[in-house]
Amino acid sequence: AKANGRNKYQFFAAPMNAAANKRLHLESELWEALANNELLLHYQPQLDLPSGRIVGVEALVRWQHPKLGMIPPADFIPVAEDSGLILPLGHWVLLTACRQAKAWLDAGIDMGEIAVNISAYQFRQPEFAQSVRAVLAESGLPAERLELEITESTIMHSADSSVTTLEELKAMGVKLAVDDFGTGYSSLSYLRRFPIDRLKIDRSFVADMESDADAASLVASIIALGGSLGLRLVAEGVENSAQVSSLREMACERVQGFHFCRPMPAEGVVDMLNSLRPG
Ligand code: C2E
Ligand code: CA
Ligand code: CA
Ligand code: CA
Repeated sequence: AKANGRNKYQFFAAPMNAAANKRLHLESELWEALANNELLLHYQPQLDLPSGRIVGVEALVRWQHPKLGMIPPADFIPVAEDSGLILPLGHWVLLTACRQAKAWLDAGIDMGEIAVNISAYQFRQPEFAQSVRAVLAESGLPAERLELEITESTIMHSADSSVTTLEELKAMGVKLAVDDFGTGYSSLSYLRRFPIDRLKIDRSFVADMESDADAASLVASIIALGGSLGLRLVAEGVENSAQVSSLREMACERVQGFHFCRPMPAEGVVDMLNSLRPG
């Protein structure tokens, strides 16, 4: 009877735990992936709008799974964030990106700044700024070449300790960008309080620009706001030439998106840089 009861329980419990089990499985696979070098970085160029030159690259992590193929970050970053695995993963991303940027510099290739995404959990570690310092020392990359992309909600979550961390990073010379700007629904006063260098206009606004006049005026307002606060700007998710001309008219200095280039392995970005070089 006892065994029966247990089976009965499992009959109901199993479907409820399926999602949790899948997550647990993915989590342990992700640990292995990190140890087995299954993670890699792709890089997406950022272009100076007036000149069309590459002035920066964003590092984006991918998981080359031996059976499932390429897994996008949206499918595993949340799992990594829930499990704490984001700390070793984030460290790997930061170090790998800085090493790549240093290798380009050493080879006389000027890609501008390398932008690295930092997750909320990673940013909130008390020793985060120190770990960035250690990665810069280990890779030999000058701090000015590193730009950290942090979302609005990450910064706002615990504003007081955020200010401390951002100021430490700023003092090192690291650049700071607010990712997905405009989606955080927060007060704009933090822009004065925090030592931020750049706003990344969220791609949802750029996508709606052609069809929705409100989205277009939002983009124009963000560009004006950035300009008046002395912040640099980049519009992300630029997919067509109509968006490019609008952004040009709005005097947006920097753009990133599929229209110019998809994220790709490091060698691809070098080829693109060379093809853009005059002569
Ligand atoms: P994000 O930081 O907003 O990155 C931009 C995403 O937009 C990338 O997706 C990129 O491939 C995509 N994208 C670029 N241009 C276009 C475009 O023209 N149209 C459209 N529709 N999409 C475009 P990806 O690489 O799949 O990354 C998704 C998100 O995963 C990132 O959003 C970021 O939040 C996170 N992520 C990626 N790499 C890392 C990482 O190394 N660490 C952390 N913590 N998060 C990462
Ligand atoms: Ca980003
Ligand atoms: Ca973004
Ligand atoms: Ca995002």
